[in-house]
Amino acid sequence: MRDKVLVVGMDGLRFDRLVAIRPPVLSALMSTGAYGTSTLPYGEPEAPRTESPGQVVPEEAAGPPASAPPEAGHMTPAPPALSDATSDSPAPTATQDTARNTQATDEESVRMIRARTDSGPGWASIATGVWPDKHGVVDNGFAAPQFTKYPDFLTRAQEARPDLVTSAFFSWAALAEHGAFGPAIGTRFVLDGYALTWSVADRQVADAARDHLAGAGPDLSFVYLGDTDEVAHALGPLCPEYTDALLLQDAYLGGLLDAIRARPSFGHERWTVIVTTDHGHVDAGGHGGVSGEERTVFVIGARLGEDLGGVRLQNPRPVDVAPTALDRLGIAVDPAWDLDGVPLAF
Ligand SMILES: [Zn+2]
Repeated sequence: MRDKVLVVGMDGLRFDRLVAIRPPVLSALMSTGAYGTSTLPYGEPEAPRTESPGQVVPEEAAGPPASAPPEAGHMTPAPPALSDATSDSPAPTATQDTARNTQATDEESVRMIRARTDSGPGWASIATGVWPDKHGVVDNGFAAPQFTKYPDFLTRAQEARPDLVTSAFFSWAALAEHGAFGPAIGTRFVLDGYALTWSVADRQVADAARDHLAGAGPDLSFVYLGDTDEVAHALGPLCPEYTDALLLQDAYLGGLLDAIRARPSFGHERWTVIVTTDHGHVDAGGHGGVSGEERTVFVIGARLGEDLGGVRLQNPRPVDVAPTALDRLGIAVDPAWDLDGVPLAF
């Protein structure tokens, strides 16, 4: 059996909305796979919310961001960011998080990770397997990314196994421009969601990815769908339009999986599918801050053709996606990579 991994990212997808809407393809992956939620160990308290996809907040003209990136690899010996409530600190507190059962690891709870709950930090963490204090992306500005030191998992796989076919399909061009998904990836299909609108871009991304999965059958691929985020920015995640956007993305995902299952060689392939998101949204739409609605993220993992029973993953984090994908391809995580994530057990 040849192992292959598909990672699908849906931007700004709130897990409680996913559960309520019950999109058929994602629901089937959950019931036959494994899934769980975790809470991002960062967020910018009392900062303006990000009001549109990819917006850089605060605006650069307003001065340096409140969360200036630390030096690469520098661990700030600062007071706990996420567990230590002080009277004058609006940072996410133990009290706020008790109801949500924040599951940040002990290490993260004493490690200062300053970043907005924005797309840049989210996708960079998913891509690299490390948190923003290491990869350096603390907002959508990508001012000081450290992708040479912490490359994305497709680049890692390509370097470890030059024979692998790797590909990435996405409509947020900044992810290519700043190297979050780097040039060593075998195929990069990059669109401009701003120019096309994300709904049009999603369709083109899904079409291109479907054809590529059917034909090339990449060993490791990443597909990004973004309209959920755009709709939530405009109308919030509670409206019918958000439901429609999610159902459409779910149908695109179904198209990808159908293309995989229809491969003539499918019987000799073992496909792991991982679906995740980069952040949530407040009810009114927008993110960047510290609320549970913004910080709750999820990971769904499944293996096509196998029933894993819909088991719950304990605290699966965005940084676990990269090492999980590499692990499924038989690529051992090198401790020298200094990853924060670990392979998920499913
Ligand atoms: Zn986003």
